Amino acid sequence: MINRRDLIKHLSTFPLIGGFLGQSGLEPASFVAKLPVRNLAKELGIRTFINAAGTYTMMTGSLMQDEVVETIQGAAKDFMMLDEVQTKVGEKIAALTHAEAAVVTAGCFSALTLGLAGVLTGMDQKKVEALPHLEGTGMKSEVIIQKGHNIGYSHALTNTGCKIIQVETLEELEKAINEKTAMLWFLNIQSDKGQVMHEKFVEIGKKNGIPTMIDMAADVPPVENLWKFNDMGFDLVCVSGGKAMRGPQSAGILMGKKHLIDAARLSMPPRGSTIGRGMKVNKEEILGMYVALDNFVKMDHKKEWKTWEDRINHIANAAKSVNGVTTNVTVPELGNHTPTLKVSWDPAKVSIAVKVLQENLRKGNPSIEIMPAENNSLTITAWMLKSGEEKIVASRLKEELSKAVV
Ligand SMILES: *Cc1c(COP(=O)(O)O)cnc(C)c1O
Repeated sequence: MINRRDLIKHLSTFPLIGGFLGQSGLEPASFVAKLPVRNLAKELGIRTFINAAGTYTMMTGSLMQDEVVETIQGAAKDFMMLDEVQTKVGEKIAALTHAEAAVVTAGCFSALTLGLAGVLTGMDQKKVEALPHLEGTGMKSEVIIQKGHNIGYSHALTNTGCKIIQVETLEELEKAINEKTAMLWFLNIQSDKGQVMHEKFVEIGKKNGIPTMIDMAADVPPVENLWKFNDMGFDLVCVSGGKAMRGPQSAGILMGKKHLIDAARLSMPPRGSTIGRGMKVNKEEILGMYVALDNFVKMDHKKEWKTWEDRINHIANAAKSVNGVTTNVTVPELGNHTPTLKVSWDPAKVSIAVKVLQENLRKGNPSIEIMPAENNSLTITAWMLKSGEEKIVASRLKEELSKAVV
């Protein structure tokens, strides 16, 4: 006969028995196999919407791939040692991306902070605990950035206590390097806004023995970017997990040289007394991130691109059937590399402010989010749409534009 202990041991393989025990009060309610699924958005009155805008943190980023959701659900049922999950997943991610090592972080932003923390501290535990206080510790304290790259995300670097040194020319970059220089930081999405390009930047770092880091948060697709910058010689590469890869929105990847990843991990959970203790990712996000990346690397990107194009064309055709409306499709070279539709209208023929149009689409049923552009125009991307939603976006957009025809 099977006793209670054996039963509990096998609960994970016999969910129905778990349910039975739960109802009998022997086990916590969490073991109950099937509860009616609650619709929390409905219950709490939270608006859900069709995302025709893109991958924006304020819109909760992206929808996870089904396999990622399944992975998270599976991983939630067992305990694992956090470090072991990171190590095993890190080896797989590193192999997929041509890096020496990798670790899953709480988004790209924390990859930036933690990567720099690793550069500053090395394997010195005292230094890890001293961060973000650098003075008198022997740690370096400056990060050099090209002026055009110095947009909001560099705050992730100053979180370590480092100062940003801004440069414009190659000469200024070389001159700025001194004994306090910890790292050179490159922001891929702004690479056309700086005078020094990737290869030269890496070369300067190597020549001076200073690690280089690249932020390529929103720069897949193309999928090749996942290994391009590792191959190029950047010491650290940071990417978001919850944008085009459709991994967990609260995950990202820090990859690069093994000694730097090992050092970065000293500032990460489970270790406390660190600047990274609050940047926790658990087994669910770590494993989910790995599955998202693995799927993304293996998927048919040509087919995916065609789907995006077809959807965009469908929406464009509907919009421009309204007199006075023009459309234009472009693909950003840097960041958010996906067909992007711009819909513009002649205010003499279609009289509606973009903010009003945005609000009308938002208030409709189903609710739709687009991105307002300059006067009398908006942008739409199709990569965050679920299959078939392009038809709804097309007809609602046409409806609202038609209503505004003078
Ligand atoms: C989105 C983004 C980040 C932040 O990434 P998260 O994964 O949201 O933490 C950092 N840098 C750039 C350029 C980004 O686009």
